[in-house]
Amino acid sequence: MATNQELLRESLEAVWHPCTQMKLHERLPLVPVARGEGVWLYDFEGRRYLDAISSWWVNLFGHANPRINAALADQLGKLEHVMLAGFTHEPVVELSRRLAQLAPGNLGHCFYASDGASAVEIALKMSFHYWRNRGESRKTRFLSLENGYHGETLGALSVTDIALFRDTYSPLLMQGARVPTPDWRRAAPGESAEACALRAAQALEQALERNHEQIAALIVEPLVQGAAGMAMYHPAYLKKARELCDRYSVHLIADEIAVGFGRTGTLFACEQAEIAPDFLCLSKGLTAGYLPLSVVLTTDEVYGAFYDDQVTRGFLHSHSYTGNPLACRAALASLDIFEQDGVITANRHNAAYLNRRAAQLAAHPRVKQFRNTGMIWAFEVETTDPAFSRNFFRAALERELLLRPLGNTVYFMPPYVITEPGIDLLVERTLGLVDRLDDPLRR
Ligand SMILES: *Cc1c(COP(=O)(O)O)cnc(C)c1O
Repeated sequence: MATNQELLRESLEAVWHPCTQMKLHERLPLVPVARGEGVWLYDFEGRRYLDAISSWWVNLFGHANPRINAALADQLGKLEHVMLAGFTHEPVVELSRRLAQLAPGNLGHCFYASDGASAVEIALKMSFHYWRNRGESRKTRFLSLENGYHGETLGALSVTDIALFRDTYSPLLMQGARVPTPDWRRAAPGESAEACALRAAQALEQALERNHEQIAALIVEPLVQGAAGMAMYHPAYLKKARELCDRYSVHLIADEIAVGFGRTGTLFACEQAEIAPDFLCLSKGLTAGYLPLSVVLTTDEVYGAFYDDQVTRGFLHSHSYTGNPLACRAALASLDIFEQDGVITANRHNAAYLNRRAAQLAAHPRVKQFRNTGMIWAFEVETTDPAFSRNFFRAALERELLLRPLGNTVYFMPPYVITEPGIDLLVERTLGLVDRLDDPLRR
């Protein structure tokens, strides 16, 4: 039986942790996790944390969900993995059919990978290759949004605009163009969220007008730019982006890796703008937070441009674990829960409850721009602490909350199985934390 202390020591010796300056762990201990159940994570000594950010936005139906566990146990007895080039299996076929049916528009062709960044790479490569197969070899550039985030492999990082992740590697990245964000925090005084979105769309129109001959695709995070600090925007932007991409023969890539599967209040965020993209990238919630899996859905039109006697006109991207049966089964079990439990409707009740409970937090003098889209909440905290994010994270852990602010933005992105008592605890303790910001936070 491991103990907290053993695990911490061995982890720092052997594991290089992501998104981390390892030296900081000389002062800030890692958080050991022994097991999870529902919205709670437990260490080896019985300490618990409410996973209010769904373990980096992936978990939908809680940890150790009995229904997903049962589906995986069943799949383990049948087939753990087989290569997908030249072979096929039930879970990947069923998942592809169901995703195609649920996705907006006619996105009938599913290409799999294991992580979000790889899904973005695939969409970028497919778009470029589509235009090349169509004889438009000048279309080699990608248009992306200011403050956008699409993952951290070199292609995905090229269309990402988060300085902390990007700047060091900028000599390695592809050139592309960036257009203003429709983030409503940028609205001028008196300007509505919709007007702000349409103003950003005008800038997009100008960029496309000038450069469309070189542009293969525009990539966006529909409705919420997650890593930018849960920047939310009006669906009018997406509607306009769809129109403009059609007018200028540019693909629209919807990166719904973070917002897909109900996060914004509809199964897919694009539904709120009544549009369908040319490529839909999904990952994070796809397996309800169980296993690494991502997928790019695309149209007959794109698929058809690769369908040919010549091998090299095909999409030859290969990845060892493509369409892993266990991951596909977890995704299918998650889709079953959506269907059987009416999750989208249930979430609306939960969201309304949280909004009512959070009135006092939203009105707190240190809290600015409290905002909500579906099952995502965020607000800015006014503070002079340059290490606010880290200090708030530690202070929250002491009150049994896993909250990991992005800069000065605190956000909630709880698993959908959170109950009213869980919401009460989350909101009340967060209010307590914000209230006590004047006290020197424990380090
Ligand atoms: C997390 C994320 C990615 C990258 O996914 P990984 O699985 O971490 O590679 C890409 N796009 C968006 C919008 C994301 O939130």
